Amino acid sequence: MSHPLEPLFALQKKDLKLIRVLREIQDIPKRRGDIEAQLSGAKSKLDMALESRKHTEASLRDLENEIELLRERVTKYKQQQMEADSNEQYRAFVKEIGAVEAEIKSAEDKQLSLMEALEQGKEIEEGCRTQLASEEGSIADEIQELDERLQALNERAEQMKADRRRVAENCDKALLQKYSRILNNKKDAAIVLVESGGHCGGCHMKLPPQVINDARNATKTVGCNFCGRLVYNPAPQR
Ligand SMILES: [Zn+2]
Repeated sequence: MSHPLEPLFALQKKDLKLIRVLREIQDIPKRRGDIEAQLSGAKSKLDMALESRKHTEASLRDLENEIELLRERVTKYKQQQMEADSNEQYRAFVKEIGAVEAEIKSAEDKQLSLMEALEQGKEIEEGCRTQLASEEGSIADEIQELDERLQALNERAEQMKADRRRVAENCDKALLQKYSRILNNKKDAAIVLVESGGHCGGCHMKLPPQVINDARNATKTVGCNFCGRLVYNPAPQR
């Protein structure tokens, strides 16, 4: 007489493979998310570069306006200087004009360094654009691979489920229930072999001799006293 756990043990082989496939299916959205997050990093770098350029361009426009106003002031002062009634007034205008021209000079220096910053910013922006484009290319490939993998895994899981249903039909119903309960609980083997030295193949604790003997007895089903898994001790092949 064959042991009642024998067909369940065969079913378990299929179930453990199925569990691995289902786990991989579950992991795919996270892997997809990680890949997409990488892309959003490159995107936000480019956004920052664009933002910084806008800021520099706005500052440059403000400076240009400021310089124009200062130049107008110089022109006005020069006109007034020509119409000066006294030497004192004339010298006062020389001083005023000197002060405004100094302001113009400092604004022009600022303008120059902003223009340099703008050029550097454009190079950084170009670098970000190239980086993003290359990441978009490789990420699109990776995502497509993942999507194809997911589809293949889903198809495989459906076949495996149908296959395990057929095998499950030949198993003892009460044992099948017990087995399923342990399998769902452990997310791992529910039926384990007695390892050499009389240890449980699941938790590796030393099993009492009675359990080892009963595990060989086709009229009994026994569990490990420690982890609760069903213990199976097939007779040596003759
Ligand atoms: Zn155990």
